[in-house]
Amino acid sequence: MRVNEDDTTRSDATLDPQDWQAFRARAHAMVERAVDQMEAALEGRVWTPVPEDLMAALQADLPVDGAGPNTTDAAISELMPYGVGNTHPRFFGWVHGAGTPGGLIADIAAAAMNANTGGRDHAAIHVERQIIRWVRDLFSFPENASGLVVSGTSMATIVALKVARDVALDFRSRKAGVAGGQLVGYASAEAHACNARAFDMLGLGTDALRRVPCDADLKMDVAALESMIEADRAAGDTPFVVIGTAGTVNAGSIDPLADLAALCAKQALWFHVDGAFGGAGILSDHLKPKLEGIERADSIAFDFHKWLQVNYDAGFVLVRDGAFHRRAFSDLPEYLSGVDRGLAAASPWPVEFGPELSRGFRALKVWAHLKEIGPQRLGAVVTRNCQQVEYLASCIDAHESLERMASIETSICCFRYVRQNMSEDDLDALNQEIVIRLQEAGIAAPSWTRIGGRLAIRVNITNHRTRMSDIDVLIDAIVRTAPEAASAINV
Ligand SMILES: *Cc1c(COP(=O)(O)O)cnc(C)c1O
Repeated sequence: MRVNEDDTTRSDATLDPQDWQAFRARAHAMVERAVDQMEAALEGRVWTPVPEDLMAALQADLPVDGAGPNTTDAAISELMPYGVGNTHPRFFGWVHGAGTPGGLIADIAAAAMNANTGGRDHAAIHVERQIIRWVRDLFSFPENASGLVVSGTSMATIVALKVARDVALDFRSRKAGVAGGQLVGYASAEAHACNARAFDMLGLGTDALRRVPCDADLKMDVAALESMIEADRAAGDTPFVVIGTAGTVNAGSIDPLADLAALCAKQALWFHVDGAFGGAGILSDHLKPKLEGIERADSIAFDFHKWLQVNYDAGFVLVRDGAFHRRAFSDLPEYLSGVDRGLAAASPWPVEFGPELSRGFRALKVWAHLKEIGPQRLGAVVTRNCQQVEYLASCIDAHESLERMASIETSICCFRYVRQNMSEDDLDALNQEIVIRLQEAGIAAPSWTRIGGRLAIRVNITNHRTRMSDIDVLIDAIVRTAPEAASAINV
């Protein structure tokens, strides 16, 4: 019996297109759609809530026979305008990077290769190794340092603290777990929640992460840290790690890294740095001096997708002693063990440095981005953003209705709108309402935080598209929105 070669319902039909010419047209159409969106990144609203009809479509059941390419591509296109807004120059919330069009190119190539980068000898493995060497050199780490491209700083922190934990327990913890003597670590009261999360996931428990008070500039108080370490030792606990933050998420402060490095050396503690966004300052003439001491860390967790502008998602963990790093994760079964020829060569494999076996080619967009743009221009973005934050601070200081709430060190400015004779609670409510209204109006998207218990409008600028004029637009919008926000909530 002769089978019809075009019959897509044949049970042995592959998932490849029947007509490659048609597929080219289809792929080109989506590239055009994507480039249109990226080209328009400076324009329009920052954020638009997902419309009702789209929400309804997203509740539909899975189409059993598949919806086919046209319907599916149309549905993808419909989603695209409803992003978080971080590609826009006036996205000022949380800490997000803005991404670049180059990331689209690398993602297309990575999808075409469909590489599994857990191991084996192929180009992707060597691309990731080149990133490790580049990063190692940027942070002045030694040649035997190791690294891994991961989803973000949360995962990088889990990997780094696992190495620290296992080193502290002489790697017995890998088999025996962490029962017995209590390991404790330290991070400032301003440290990111991902550090406590890692303590939780590593079986140490969040109580074992002691929170060290901060000084008036929201930096870790090193004297307080030292007495907490002494007290814990006296109580029979085993301190093993100090986590310094290079760029806290609330106010952007940098802990005194050189002092922490010295203390950790003296006390024989692992020194980990959370440099999620601030680590990028190593490329900036303006910020680099403030990071002094980071080069003495035992491990650094940071993101490519924040201040370094790589499209989501991409983070990195760098470990000073690559042998420790490998020992904390390697457990290659016999059938995966190293040879020096053939596809199973290229030992050691990434799987020996982190929890994942199968991993995509996330490294390609990172590598291409660093290669295309180079550290000079990326550092210039960091420096320019710092200047924009300082300009914002000067506008606030000059405005009678605006009040600054924290000093500025990196990319973040915390402030609030004030009106005489308004209670602190009403001011909190008013400032939150102002932020929500700016987001809903699509004009700008700051977020909020609490500084000293009071609500602050929080503006973070880690965005290569932000212009000085965007700061003026923001200030204008806040001052214009405040009276209507006040009357809407009756304050
Ligand atoms: C964003 C951030 C994290 C978490 O990083 P992810 O990439 O979101 O996992 C950790 N620490 C700080 C200081 C951050 O800003």
